[in-house]
Amino acid sequence: MKKVIMIKYGEIYLKGNNRSFFESMLLKNIKYALFGLKADAKRVRTRYFVENYDEDMEDEIVERLQKVFGIHSFSKAVEIDTTRDNIVDFCSAIRLQNCTFKVETNRADKTFELSSMQTNCLIGEVILNNNPTVKVDVHNPDITIFIDIRENKKTYIFYQNIMGAGGMPVGSSADGLVLLSGGIDSPVACHQIAKRGMHLTGLHFASYPYTSEQAKEKVVKLAQIIKPYTHMKKLFVVSFTEIQENIHKYCKDEYMITLMRRFMMRIAERLANHVGAKAIVTGENLGQVASQTVESITSSNSVLEVMPVFRPLIAMDKEEIVSIAKKIGTFETSILPYEDCCTVFLPKYPLIKPNLKKVLEEESKLDVERLIENALNKIEEIKI
Ligand code: ATP
Ligand code: MG
Repeated sequence: MKKVIMIKYGEIYLKGNNRSFFESMLLKNIKYALFGLKADAKRVRTRYFVENYDEDMEDEIVERLQKVFGIHSFSKAVEIDTTRDNIVDFCSAIRLQNCTFKVETNRADKTFELSSMQTNCLIGEVILNNNPTVKVDVHNPDITIFIDIRENKKTYIFYQNIMGAGGMPVGSSADGLVLLSGGIDSPVACHQIAKRGMHLTGLHFASYPYTSEQAKEKVVKLAQIIKPYTHMKKLFVVSFTEIQENIHKYCKDEYMITLMRRFMMRIAERLANHVGAKAIVTGENLGQVASQTVESITSSNSVLEVMPVFRPLIAMDKEEIVSIAKKIGTFETSILPYEDCCTVFLPKYPLIKPNLKKVLEEESKLDVERLIENALNKIEEIKI
């Protein structure tokens, strides 16, 4: 008998011929999550097992597995060699008191001598005989004892399913470049898009000396907090000061944010091409602020050639975003009061519905190409 953690995947089941690609990616990610811990991970057909770990590390392993996208659920289980006697022996030692229970058998090994139903009945009897204060309740039991009889002649017995993060394994989709600010939204956007398998690289715009070193450190910290989800290895920091100063000097005040967003997108697209990312990701949310109206989004999208922009939060309420931020542990850091480049030079009345023709007119007062080149020449790369 040995203690293991048995892991089940979710949507990967729906994959056809390419399922093994996703299965291998998930194993790789489980091993990545367990990095530095003494524990082995392996796949046996559609199940994954973490084994050979110290018992006092179990909570840490559970916590880490809950951040691995692609995992539907997992259970702390015991593994025994599949024989009728072994299953009965193990279940004879189960002690329950004053509760209702049921037994739920999954017989993947069709050569096992009893059907699932027969196993349920047999083990139900065994438990009733050894525990005089319990009753069977097949509809709404206090405890369910799961018996999973696998094809590899091993049986796994457990009573609890811990829900995983769902989604698809990170790395199974193309890479993305995320515009990461120090706010509440963009780290949540990272989490949401990584859930669909996208591995992320970060891009942050700073405006030294208007924004501080601490403001940047805050973004680095956020990137580190979400790393178990996103696998982000690099955060690029671009100085936005010259661009903002030029807009401030040459363009009408109310165009500040609109023009800034167009610069952000252009720089993001170029950097994305450079690092091999195939999409840009932002934490924009429809109608949240002036720069996030349909007209503003049209204005910033229109600078892009072909690259798609994913905005996973577009239709979410702030309350939903905040609740995810709390769950993934970014909220407390996000609300630290450091200024963002978007708050520097903030006009009193930003354009809510910019007219693209007029935006282009304003923008024509700037040497766009030179400003972008200058910004990209001074790019800083931070290892996360
Ligand atoms: P957040 O909470 O993510 O900061 P926000 O509600 O403050 O978002 P905006 O400031 O309009 O909204 O920014 C919208 C999106 O633009 C952000 O979610 C982020 O993806 C990107 N963004 C804003 N500021 C920066 C920045 N300084 N560096 C990188 N990306 C940024
Ligand atoms: Mg912001």
